[in-house]
Amino acid sequence: MRKVWSEELQTVVAQADTRDYRSRWACFACRTAFVRWRPAADEARMAICPTCKAPACDMGYLFTPPPRRDQRAWARMQVLADHGIRFHRTGSVAFINAFLLTDGVGSARALDQAVVRWKKCWRSGGTL
Ligand SMILES: [Zn+2]
Repeated sequence: MRKVWSEELQTVVAQADTRDYRSRWACFACRTAFVRWRPAADEARMAICPTCKAPACDMGYLFTPPPRRDQRAWARMQVLADHGIRFHRTGSVAFINAFLLTDGVGSARALDQAVVRWKKCWRSGGTL
């Protein structure tokens, strides 16, 4: 996190949404992951896959890419990406591992349904 001097507050403050860390990007077209700096907020949050030149998705620096041959695992990761679920914090990773990827061999469709259930739960503030 970059820190800058704030005249108004007369202290050093953390500046959000800067190139504060490198993140892991995933390309679902060719099942590749690579590391890049996160773009600042005013730039397009996009990276191009160095392998196949398709647009890649910022999955968070804690993202662990599945092996390229594991198409089911990549399909599940794409479901998470489509739902906006990222591996930016340890809490997110813990949640994903404990509640979304529990079976380890579940289909992308089952995961999609699980995420939809969780989103309903979050919105209502209730239980599953
Ligand atoms: Zn690619």
